[in-house]
Amino acid sequence: MANMRADKVAMPEQAPDIRNKNFEEVALGYTPEMAVEEAKRCLNCKNRPCVQGCPVAVQIPDFIALVAEGKFAEAAEKIKETSALPAVCGRVCPQESQCEKYCVRGIKGEPVAIGRLERFAADWARSHAEKKSFEIKKNGHKCAVVGAGPAGLTCAGDLARMGYDVTVFEILHTAGGVLMYGIPEFRLPKAIVQSEIDSLKDMGVEFVLNFVVGRSETIDDLFADGYEAVFVGSGAGLPTFMHVPGENYNGVYSANEYLTRVNLMKAYREDAPTPIMRAKKVAVVGGGNVAMDAARCAKRMGAEEVYIVYRRGEAELPARLEEIHHAKEEGIIFKFLTAPVEVLGDPDTYLVKGMVCQQMELGEPDDSGRRRPVPVEGSEFTLELDVVIVAIGTSPNPLIRSTTPGLETNRRGCIVADDATGLTSKDGVFAGGDTVTGAATVILAMGAGKRAAAAMDKYIKSKK
Ligand code: FAD
Ligand code: SF4
Repeated sequence: MANMRADKVAMPEQAPDIRNKNFEEVALGYTPEMAVEEAKRCLNCKNRPCVQGCPVAVQIPDFIALVAEGKFAEAAEKIKETSALPAVCGRVCPQESQCEKYCVRGIKGEPVAIGRLERFAADWARSHAEKKSFEIKKNGHKCAVVGAGPAGLTCAGDLARMGYDVTVFEILHTAGGVLMYGIPEFRLPKAIVQSEIDSLKDMGVEFVLNFVVGRSETIDDLFADGYEAVFVGSGAGLPTFMHVPGENYNGVYSANEYLTRVNLMKAYREDAPTPIMRAKKVAVVGGGNVAMDAARCAKRMGAEEVYIVYRRGEAELPARLEEIHHAKEEGIIFKFLTAPVEVLGDPDTYLVKGMVCQQMELGEPDDSGRRRPVPVEGSEFTLELDVVIVAIGTSPNPLIRSTTPGLETNRRGCIVADDATGLTSKDGVFAGGDTVTGAATVILAMGAGKRAAAAMDKYIKSKK
């Protein structure tokens, strides 16, 4: 008998005024009793609308039914049939615009908490299940993966399961991509990402770190080394700046740099040697997940006033609703319909002193379909600040496209690849994730990695 309560079982969380001073995880996760109660809200619908909303087609009603029966390890196995990173997706996927958006329980109340149940099953399996020994029959073929983010990791895992010898080449000293260097510890503990990477290592995937494809070796060199197909999942790590006067003052960071210092280089820990400005007044320019993460990190790093400066209105904020809600609870101040005009600095120290902003109003829709922000004449005002963090977008780094003859890219610098297969204009090279789409989401990157692995398998078999 289904549990017909209208709302989701609440997620236990750290209180806002405690968590905004530490980097421990905000959401604490369901207990087994809570998970079973929530799982019983699922109606096990015949036509499975939730599955259609999942980019990697997790068999949602099946895994939820297993949770409802208390078969937690089996539930995790069910998810892993189609998703390589369930503990990650359960935490950071925008479920409200994917699976949960289509859940029929959302018509008269809240949808089933699919993401929270996914997280619960994955966490339970990680802490209870015995380590699996993999018996994979090798097929004698070699593939290379460039970039160890969610796209590359998913592609590597699928290829390894098919029997390929897979080597992942990663520029940083740690695998994980944005999951390690961008998304903060309090949203996605790094031990969880590491354990997903370790399970790929257990399957025989080899990781070569501190290796810059395009410098250490080119893609053509990898083919010469005997790799028969190459997947490029190098992400979109190149920050966009505002191009306003004063942007070169000390104390203006790109969100990528700021988050890398805090997350990957652990600047939040007393014992970390990573330099970072511990500012009192911080403005983060932008309104996406990256901006929310930077603002919430700045607060935890000791800032008293943290502003989100966003040129459109609240309804247009692209960040996940949960992140906006958490940011507000933690005391982040939102300045909507506000655009930066100039960063002010001290002429002697070159340190940031403030930012001149201008009020905006919304005009006609632009190419993106969203209403265009239009400046209001004479509305300038100044925010007193010591740090400005720019989180207005990223694009792919040009290194790979500039060192790979025959690889077509578009005007945004993204690699052009077929949606269904990831095949690029260069024979044997496949691509997916943010390097193809520009900054997107974890699950879309995983879906692309999955499709490319299947296509690479076909490609190599066709050459035999
Ligand atoms: P990446 O994760 O960027 O991985 C690319 C990897 O390639 C990196 O490790 C990079 O170092 C490596 N690399 C680059 N160039 C080379 C080279 N030449 N040689 C070798 N290695 C190379 N998505 C969500 O779904 N939910 C969220 O809540 C969310 N929050 C986010 C918060 C932040 C701060 C950021 C930055 C992004 C967020 N995203 C979120 C987006 C999501 O993380 C990305 O869409 C996803 O990580 C893209 O995966 P990817 O594998 O394509 O690229
Ligand atoms: Fe369960 Fe909702 Fe999916 Fe129906 S749509 S099977 S209720 S999760």
